[in-house]
Amino acid sequence: MTIKVAINGFGTIGKRVADAVDAQEDMEIVGVTKTSPSFGCQLAVRKGYPLYCTFDEEDKIAAFAGAGYVCKGGLSELLSICDVIVDCSPGKVGAENLEKYQNAGVKSIFQGGEKHALTGKSYTSSANHIENLGVNCTRVVSCNTTGLSRTLVPIYELVQGKGSISVNSVMIRRAADPGDSSKGPINAIKPVLKVPSHHGPDLMTVKPEIDITSLAVAVPTTIMHLHAITVNLPLGHGLSTEKVLETWKNTQRVIVMNGTKNKITSTAEVMELARDIGRKWGDLHEIFVWEDGVSLQDNTLYYFQAIHQESDVIPENVDAIRAMMETETDWKASVEKTDRAISAYYGI
Ligand code: NAD
Repeated sequence: MTIKVAINGFGTIGKRVADAVDAQEDMEIVGVTKTSPSFGCQLAVRKGYPLYCTFDEEDKIAAFAGAGYVCKGGLSELLSICDVIVDCSPGKVGAENLEKYQNAGVKSIFQGGEKHALTGKSYTSSANHIENLGVNCTRVVSCNTTGLSRTLVPIYELVQGKGSISVNSVMIRRAADPGDSSKGPINAIKPVLKVPSHHGPDLMTVKPEIDITSLAVAVPTTIMHLHAITVNLPLGHGLSTEKVLETWKNTQRVIVMNGTKNKITSTAEVMELARDIGRKWGDLHEIFVWEDGVSLQDNTLYYFQAIHQESDVIPENVDAIRAMMETETDWKASVEKTDRAISAYYGI
């Protein structure tokens, strides 16, 4: 069975999810939407993705032809030919879209800009694939929460049965995506004056067993978020810094590297490494952990990790499709399949 996937909102996340889906043998892109005929349409045309309008109004659909694009119809037509729609619209417009998907009887996946309450289910591959099997609607959590899940779930599993873990995390966030001219700050460090920030608690929507809180600040960079994380482990945890590192080195979608030895001491070099890997847009789907920034002292584990905000959630969307369609029950097998196909797609 080939799963027919539509993308609603062909922006930063949408165009990446489209390629990741296109790379898979068990799925195909049946259409992507744009709100109006802007430059992003050219990419859809070049990739051969059928182009639809986000809306059903005839004048909005006709505007595409006026700009020289073939638009195959409105959202309703796209919904009539897909099994699942990945909503990549800007945050907070989801509620209106969800109603349309439900009326059409189509399964849907939302992104981290929407609240958990919209879908009642959230998703990361490592935390709760199994709980998403067969659901009609879910939300792939934000880039930050996905990053927290990647490294904290394996730590939770290491000490499972020995007691609980609690986590304090500080999110040092990029101000804007590289293609975004409307956000800031450009000359300030801006704390999120809502304490705790939503990022940590959002992890509990996929892994409620991890007690976590977070603070966040935005800084003037467009490349990556950085997390400074403190994990309080249970007494008698039996772990060492080496054991934690070995675990992450064997964890899918986590890269552990020595910053000092490899001269990779900031997010700038991490992004250069990503460009060397060769995925489109210089994407880094993995979470990057600095080996020499990890230290376990008594019952407290300290570490830093870097998150490529535009791309770590991309392969999770592919796994989420398999969970909803119940075509792969084992999350590790899905991750393996997704990542192998993406590597082959880019010839890396
Ligand atoms: P974006 O602004 O780059 O793209 C959004 C696209 O949706 C645009 O093409 C826009 O024209 C289109 N759109 C506008 N209104 C729409 C509607 N009503 N229905 C459908 N499409 C509509 O935004 P993005 O960065 O791709 O973010 C999309 C979602 O992904 C948000 O929920 C965001 O929070 C989340 N997310 C973003 C990042 C990131 O770093 N950019 C990371 C993780 C998650």
